[in-house]
Amino acid sequence: MSSQHQSSASLIVSLLNEHPLDLGTYEEVYKHIHAHPELSLHEAETASTVAKHSSLSTYTVHTSIGGHGVAGVLVNGEGPTVLLRADMDALPVEEKTGLEYASNVKTKDADDGTATAVMHACGHDMHVACLLAASEWLARKKVRETWVGTLVVLFQPDEEGGKGAMAMVDDGLYHKVPVPDVVLAQHVMPFKAGKVAVRAGTMIAAADSFKITLFGRGGHGSMPQLCIDPVLLAANVVVRLQGIVAREVDPAEAAVLTVGSSQAGHTENVIADKAVLKVDIRSQHAATRDRVLSAMRRIVEKECEASGCVKPPLFEQIRKFPMTVNDKDVTHQLSKTFSHIFGEEFDPKVVTSNASEDVSDLATSVKKPYCMWFFGGIESERWDKAERNGRIAEDIPVNHSALFAPVIQPTLKTGIMTLCAAAWTHLGRRES
Ligand SMILES: [Zn+2]
Ligand SMILES: [Zn+2]
Repeated sequence: MSSQHQSSASLIVSLLNEHPLDLGTYEEVYKHIHAHPELSLHEAETASTVAKHSSLSTYTVHTSIGGHGVAGVLVNGEGPTVLLRADMDALPVEEKTGLEYASNVKTKDADDGTATAVMHACGHDMHVACLLAASEWLARKKVRETWVGTLVVLFQPDEEGGKGAMAMVDDGLYHKVPVPDVVLAQHVMPFKAGKVAVRAGTMIAAADSFKITLFGRGGHGSMPQLCIDPVLLAANVVVRLQGIVAREVDPAEAAVLTVGSSQAGHTENVIADKAVLKVDIRSQHAATRDRVLSAMRRIVEKECEASGCVKPPLFEQIRKFPMTVNDKDVTHQLSKTFSHIFGEEFDPKVVTSNASEDVSDLATSVKKPYCMWFFGGIESERWDKAERNGRIAEDIPVNHSALFAPVIQPTLKTGIMTLCAAAWTHLGRRES
């Protein structure tokens, strides 16, 4: 560790101590956003809460970028431009946490117009509260006097759909705000609150999902000889697809293939005319991704042929998330700062996650480096107890579960400190 970085890391620690974070205000912000979740592409109220918040009063604020995207810019002399990003959208999940600030929201905003319960089941509410707090802290006069450069704080819509970051870029984000030298972001995850984790290289897998329609020939349940049964075909396809990861992917490589939905027919005495499968794929290397995707196509097409289908299957891509590959130098710098602040609670070599993220689009679209890290949201005692009893899977709700609710502290405090420290590390130093 160079003395320059050592002193820079110590400096941010003393700054955080000298200018304590305002936690109370942001606990209320968190609870408010948690109680008022909005689905992807419908984040209007959340965006308005963000844009009007006093944290951004010294920023030039741009709204409605790529949908409900918001970006605040704080120019503070000549120096590097750092972009901090939080996502804002919630999920069609009915909250079952029983918390006093739990969501009761039902909306008709879902694609099919039916009433849907909505919940911040992925912690994006926590990301927003942390970023508002960090925006305020970094703009404080005494703190601002220690850094130079430009800070961009970005609140992104539609992360769950995987299109929000690109929608902002396509809508002229970088004509409204300066192109950053580095993009930084974080995600709350189901591990102990107070802990922070990152890795250089592939941090988060690529994700691809497809709707696959298999065309049979429908008819009377008593006359299978005149039909092509899509149920039997779909069953064979589902089983066969499970051979891809088991038999075609290098055992040293990670990949996941899940058939999350299988639908055909309505009643017992009718052979349906089609079956629809929904398939989700995660991969950690481009070559593995290509291999899994082409194997999926091959198997589905050949099974259809084997069944004598009159029409080839139809593949429709539902979602496509890029791989999140943390820049080595940026991650190295951040790791120095984080290990100084969090000590043993910081893990610089966490295993690659098979979740998915589109934050990289904000950086790769302008060929800039980026880094995303994780911070924990599970109450320490609860985690320890689950671990002692060998019941992590049973007792610790994961992201997207109806029971997922990060414990407010120390999660919020940790998530604010990480953002403040990460931004500060990559901004310029004011000569004193
Ligand atoms: Zn999510
Ligand atoms: Zn998420």
